[in-house]
Amino acid sequence: MLKGCEIYTSGAPCPMCLSAIYWSRFRAVYFSCDLEATESIGFCDAYQYEEFKKPLHERMIKTKQIYPKLGLTSYKAWEDRPNRHPY
Ligand SMILES: [Zn+2]
Repeated sequence: MLKGCEIYTSGAPCPMCLSAIYWSRFRAVYFSCDLEATESIGFCDAYQYEEFKKPLHERMIKTKQIYPKLGLTSYKAWEDRPNRHPY
């Protein structure tokens, strides 16, 4: 974890990097170019942020929950693990 750290970047983080930033518990993100400027040089990150706001059934990539009870068995195994890394 990078709890309490700050990150500086030339462009607004893409969704993948922003997720890693949140998981790492940074306390601040500073960027220079916004998503519009990023798109102007060929990186289309803005559409992903818009996509994630949509309900699952409206997204361009089929995303559907399946076997929720089966999935919970792996979650339970994780919870029961005594030496798991806390998030
Ligand atoms: Zn990225």
